[in-house]
Amino acid sequence: MAFRARHLLGIEHLGPDEIITLLDLAETYVTLNRQPQKHGRALEGLTQINMFFEASTRTQASFELAGKRLGADVMNMAMAASSLKKGETLIDTAMTLNAMHPDLLVVRHPHSGAVDLLAQKVNCAVLNAGDGRHEHPTQALLDALTIRRAKGRLHRLNIAICGDIAHSRVARSNILLLGKMENRVRLVGPATLMPSQVDQLGVEVYDDMRKGLDGCDVVMMLRLQKERMDGGFIPSEREYYHRYGLDAEKLSHAKPDAIVMHPGPMNRGVEIDGLLADDINRSVIQDQVEMGVAVRMAAMDLLARNLTAATTTGGVLV
Ligand code: ASP
Repeated sequence: MAFRARHLLGIEHLGPDEIITLLDLAETYVTLNRQPQKHGRALEGLTQINMFFEASTRTQASFELAGKRLGADVMNMAMAASSLKKGETLIDTAMTLNAMHPDLLVVRHPHSGAVDLLAQKVNCAVLNAGDGRHEHPTQALLDALTIRRAKGRLHRLNIAICGDIAHSRVARSNILLLGKMENRVRLVGPATLMPSQVDQLGVEVYDDMRKGLDGCDVVMMLRLQKERMDGGFIPSEREYYHRYGLDAEKLSHAKPDAIVMHPGPMNRGVEIDGLLADDINRSVIQDQVEMGVAVRMAAMDLLARNLTAATTTGGVLV
């Protein structure tokens, strides 16, 4: 089996073979999830703890459902009400939970790198559910599965990632994954929302949306991450929508069969036209949500297999 990782901290650490292994397994879970009886046994007897230090709707629900469908005991920590409020550090909280012998720890945190740090302190498998503007690996994997199903392949595609790239962990994980699978990635947005050292990412950069979308197979829109902005990155939301909001006219510059994606939550009328987001002939946004559950089932299944391997071989996995 081509999946060596002990934790899922970022796309950065995965090889193309591991990505394909995970997506292929996720396909079997897409099928399972469409049955009336959705129970698998891959995580039976295991304990999964979800620690979300930042708001989440889709990701948290999806990880919870994924664990339950595979038979894990799933606990959601209410982090707002936890001892962190009383001054306990992230690491102390993690060590306390670690002493309860969880097998899978799913963590979202506002600081880039916090999840990696935590993974060094605990014995279980850690899954990064989004850390600051660093990585959101399961989002990129579910996007990859959605693209592969819609386009029939995951290589040699023209993919435009548009909007607030600078603050987006979704963009970062997608750039890494799509690059590893040999696609042509374009970043489209104003210079103020481009990451520093964008020239080192192996992508093309456009500040003109129509030129950036020209001939694209996939148009991936991003939310303006206002919570991570500390100043005036855009003149106004109205002006931003005019230049970078995806509507039918701008989409007409992409290929006629180009798909529209968005990780959610969406700001309708800011980065995307509401009608276009709901157009089932172009938008795969609901498919992304469906693929999210299957991908998280596959990720936890594979990590659980490696946990067993680590126990039986004296913990040699890294
Ligand atoms: N839900 C995604 C994330 O957690 C995207 C977003 O919030 O805009 O990064």
